[in-house]
Amino acid sequence: MARKVLVLGEVRDGSLRNVSFEAIAAAKTVAEGGEVVAVLAGETVSALGTELVQYGADRVVVVENDKLKQYTSDGFAQALLAVVDQEKPEGLVLGHTALGKDLAPRIAGKLSSGLISDAVAVEAAGGNIVFTRPIYSGKAFEKKIVTDGLIFATVRPNNIAPLAQDESRSGEVSSLSVDIKDLRAIIKEVVRKASEGVDLSEAKVVISGGRGVKSAEGFEPLKELANVLGGAVGASRGACDADYCDYSLQIGQTGKVVTPDLYIACGISGAIQHLAGMSNSKVIVAINKDPEANIFKIADYGIVGDLFEVVPLLTEEFKKLKV
Ligand code: FAD
Repeated sequence: MARKVLVLGEVRDGSLRNVSFEAIAAAKTVAEGGEVVAVLAGETVSALGTELVQYGADRVVVVENDKLKQYTSDGFAQALLAVVDQEKPEGLVLGHTALGKDLAPRIAGKLSSGLISDAVAVEAAGGNIVFTRPIYSGKAFEKKIVTDGLIFATVRPNNIAPLAQDESRSGEVSSLSVDIKDLRAIIKEVVRKASEGVDLSEAKVVISGGRGVKSAEGFEPLKELANVLGGAVGASRGACDADYCDYSLQIGQTGKVVTPDLYIACGISGAIQHLAGMSNSKVIVAINKDPEANIFKIADYGIVGDLFEVVPLLTEEFKKLKV
């Protein structure tokens, strides 16, 4: 059954986030040959419409308004709901990002719809659109279908492969004028934490340090390895609690959930709360002095040794591969 499916293109610092392209790929599956319409909301974002088409959107609807300069749940909900009202879609897909996690439940509430959140896979099977999502902190997966009404889902970054960019694709980029009603919260200024390099939640490679890193300086070899591999640095809560690094790096049940292609855990014991944030990584490498450490139970490759010896060796070897 062909459906019309809306996707929200997520913009950060003037560029589209990868998860937007992954959401388009998921929307294509939901659409089953129907139309995928991307939505862009912001102050001046229309120039990004073409890229969404190149990644598979059939059409783009742009809502530009100076009240959408900064993301607010109120403003973006008004914009997206106006597009929903115009397009009357049968499906809606957002990224399971900080923005998507905030916006999707509000939209679902306003539309009296259900929501399948944090999907890691979507397929058309047995006449249904089947979403797979992790439960019990990633220890099991459940499959869900929508039996009635809007098929509405958020998709976890880095899990659904985007379509290849095709610069020859063309599609209409139209604008919709929306009168954004007074916002109840107005963001005056965004003060960013100084962050180095790649965004942790979208990184293809994550090098994480735990209490075994022993100090803030102990993270330096990890940063160097991340640099060589074009990855991001993460941490266990043990490392954050010990003040070796900022809590924004924390991965786990009460931190970020990551699913990179490669996760290298250095000096991390593998507590269940840490595994909840990284166990779905495609390849897991663990470096730990203790051969009995729990992290080895889920690692694809384990290195028993001192991370301060092993990590610099890996960095040197990867550097050679890059030359
Ligand atoms: P440790 O358990 O102390 O492990 C350090 C490891 O380093 C050891 O295995 C040791 O063998 C190894 N090591 C030491 N020196 C070296 C060396 N030189 N070379 C190699 N290996 C070395 N934790 C999270 O990570 N994320 C969460 O989101 C999270 N949420 C939590 C929520 C709740 C409600 C609770 C109760 C706990 C939570 N925790 C979380 C904490 C979690 O239970 C663990 O305490 C924490 O993950 C331990 O961090 P760690 O592995 O770095 O430290």
